[in-house]
Amino acid sequence: MGKVLIIGAGGVGAVVAHKCALNPEVFSDIVLASRTLEKCDKIKSQLPHPIETAKVDADNVAELSALIRKTSPNLVINVALPYQDLTIMDACLETGVNYLDTANYEPRDEAKFCYKWQWDYQERFREKGLMALLGCGFDPGVTNIFCAYALKHHFDAIHTIDVMDCNAGSHGHAFATNFNPEINIREVTARGKYYENGEWVEIDPMSIHQTFDFPEIGPREMYLLYHEELESLARNIPGVRRMRFWMTFSQEYLTHLRVLQNVGMTRIDPVSFQGCEIVPLQFLKALLPEPSSLGAGYTGKTNIGCMIEGVKDGRPRKYYVYNVCDHAEAYREVKAQAISYTTGVPAMIGAMMMLTGVWTGSGVFNVEEFDPDPFMEKLGVHGLPWTETFLEQ
Ligand code: NDP
Repeated sequence: MGKVLIIGAGGVGAVVAHKCALNPEVFSDIVLASRTLEKCDKIKSQLPHPIETAKVDADNVAELSALIRKTSPNLVINVALPYQDLTIMDACLETGVNYLDTANYEPRDEAKFCYKWQWDYQERFREKGLMALLGCGFDPGVTNIFCAYALKHHFDAIHTIDVMDCNAGSHGHAFATNFNPEINIREVTARGKYYENGEWVEIDPMSIHQTFDFPEIGPREMYLLYHEELESLARNIPGVRRMRFWMTFSQEYLTHLRVLQNVGMTRIDPVSFQGCEIVPLQFLKALLPEPSSLGAGYTGKTNIGCMIEGVKDGRPRKYYVYNVCDHAEAYREVKAQAISYTTGVPAMIGAMMMLTGVWTGSGVFNVEEFDPDPFMEKLGVHGLPWTETFLEQ
């Protein structure tokens, strides 16, 4: 039995709150806190039993520490934005509480993400006997655990990993992003990057693409992006030779994005307008639908998984493991679309692993450093069943 403080009441925060509330044998008490109290209270009104809510500015360590002291959680689940990772980790250190998140730190003024800032907290968490679990959503998160599971059960050595993320859903808007618009657009407009033979190879944005026939969806064009799980997998999967991350986009999405970029609406530097400074991407975010509002009427499916090649018992092997999630089913269950659902469920399971003492440790960890089996068992139980196949070489 444990008490969790969930920070962030967006699309993902709503799913984490729902899923924790559905498992009271582990999550005996829940506090949901965010910048906008009304959003916490709206989620609270949809849950099967009462939770506490609170207003907090997660950029402010003193405010966070005061809330943690007042509510005394066993674990803080950070599903606010990557900008808040370090302040929330600082507050956890100050108050002596464990930490979990789903996305690595990103400074506001530079479209760059990497684990270094959070890995640098290793000694401080270790010295205090605290645990920080990083990147426990779907990708990063389940995709890392798929790789650890493959290595444990199906390979003597992994040579290549292709993480493939397909959203074949339709939300009815001409242009919207499935998770925070600012973070999403920063990610997809950045230069691509993949790992090969110990080096990182950079490419122009969206310049490498190919068609893949996704199970339960069909053929879709997927584009090579840089994504954060590649950084930790390069460290934690010994001997891996090549790793790439692919994401599908519709032509409609790509056309809108190109126009927005061409007119300067994706810029992250301040622009002077009628005597005030505005950041175009932040203004664009204010115009776009919130990810949590996309669920009603969203149809279609997501398919996210890993294609892995390597050797077992001296023979080459090709293995594909994936989850398919249906937007409408996710909405029926927790009033959220599948992208929020596939992120929030693993965050809840990661929290469960920590609170029940199945995953323990002092320091800062990525999910693939733990035994994948108990997590994989819980995925199907809590709404994300997975399928594995061995393919002809
Ligand atoms: P949303 O934009 O829907 O929600 C973000 C929430 O954080 C909002 O409630 C927002 O408050 C709150 N917030 C922002 N700044 C602060 C602050 N300073 N203090 C307190 N609360 C704050 O985003 P999502 O729910 O879609 O995404 C949440 C996180 O999940 C992101 O970090 C995202 O990168 C990550 N993610 C991870 C994935 C994975 O597979 N690993 C996939 C998808 C998302 P307000 O409503 O007032 O703006």
